[in-house]
Amino acid sequence: MPEFQTSPGMRDILPPESARWRRFVEVFADVVERAGYGQVMPPLLEDLGVFQRIGDATDVVTKEMYDFVDKGGRHIALRPELTASVCRSYVQHRPQAPWKVWYSGSMFRYEKPQRGRYRQFDQVGIEVLGADDPNLDVEVIALGWEFYRALGLEQVHLLLNSLGEPDDRTRYVEALRVHFESHIDALSPESRTTLAKNPLRVLDSKREQDAPLIASAPRIAEFHSERAASHFAAVRAGLDAISIPYAIESKLVRGLDYYRHTTFEFQGGTLDSAQNALGGGGRYDGLVESLGGPSTPGVGFALGLDRTLIACDDEGVFGAPSQAVDVFVVDTAGGSAALSITTELRAHGIRVDRAFENRSMKSQMKAADRSGATIAVIVGSNELEAGTVVVRPLRVATHDHDDTAAGQSAVLRTELLDHLKKALQ
Ligand code: AMP
Repeated sequence: MPEFQTSPGMRDILPPESARWRRFVEVFADVVERAGYGQVMPPLLEDLGVFQRIGDATDVVTKEMYDFVDKGGRHIALRPELTASVCRSYVQHRPQAPWKVWYSGSMFRYEKPQRGRYRQFDQVGIEVLGADDPNLDVEVIALGWEFYRALGLEQVHLLLNSLGEPDDRTRYVEALRVHFESHIDALSPESRTTLAKNPLRVLDSKREQDAPLIASAPRIAEFHSERAASHFAAVRAGLDAISIPYAIESKLVRGLDYYRHTTFEFQGGTLDSAQNALGGGGRYDGLVESLGGPSTPGVGFALGLDRTLIACDDEGVFGAPSQAVDVFVVDTAGGSAALSITTELRAHGIRVDRAFENRSMKSQMKAADRSGATIAVIVGSNELEAGTVVVRPLRVATHDHDDTAAGQSAVLRTELLDHLKKALQ
């Protein structure tokens, strides 16, 4: 075993998988930029305090943060998510509202690594700051939905809930506390600890022992004010109007303290329940204020790249893009022809690779096969002298009955570019 390996929960993403990751972000950018979102690129590190505003009742903040004191004595953290950074950025730059932005990148959480759960993982997301129109909640959810469709995923389920206004939520949390405390003996020890900190998070418990008490717990909808109820009705009507199916899930609380009104989650139908959340989000009207900005509504989501790609594997969609080149140059006459040919073809947008180290014809032809190229351009000393090259098709499409395509031909070096352009069409 080599002396150094990636640390637990961290991975090297190698080709061709890395090309799939890049394409994932490109597809996402396409979907959201079509809707007027611009990319924001906050730093990987922030003042620890930025993330502490997310709420101190979440594992993300209390247990999983990578933080350290830098050489200037500042307490810094590697970002565990990007919503707080985006809000910090909004407060710092005060852009015109509504501010519609998207992001992508790595997040860091010191979690117990397992399939679909890593310590460095990637997310794409959008946030809209400065407008509380329920139609924006609908737009945000619809863009997530459209993105999954663009990847080709079909088994994604949308769960929807509303946490109401802060007062509704306070009354609900109190009712939950009373409910769980009056049956505390039936609650798992872990949930008892959670209850003392944040009764809402008890609803997230996946422990079997807690299931009956969670099922009989009061529902948030009973505590919705008139405004909260009408906001939620407008979101549902909007989703209905554009035929996005959803299920109301009243236990979907997303424990972060700043969530208000709409919360939602996209679940993958093919994944285990411990890792089936592909992404989620909601409205967080109090977050900008808690970071020192003016009272500013916000809504957004973050979607996990790693888990979504697992879902893609399960559904057999969005595979790694081909990294094959079009042409491979085999040069057994010293390599100068390979240098000039690859340079010329690449300048004209043709994907072309070559062999190095003056290997034998046989070894270079093997490399040509491995490269995935459809055409080999072969130069030996005879061709070099005659100013010609041999063009040999490597893969003949099964539907191609043109017999001449199967054979190789000699082409003047000066006519190679035009010849290949036609052949590759
Ligand atoms: P959250 O920011 O916790 O709401 O997570 C949003 C999405 O990010 C989740 O639905 C996952 O797809 C992904 N995610 C969160 N934590 C991890 C992790 N440790 N490893 C991989 N993906 C993660």
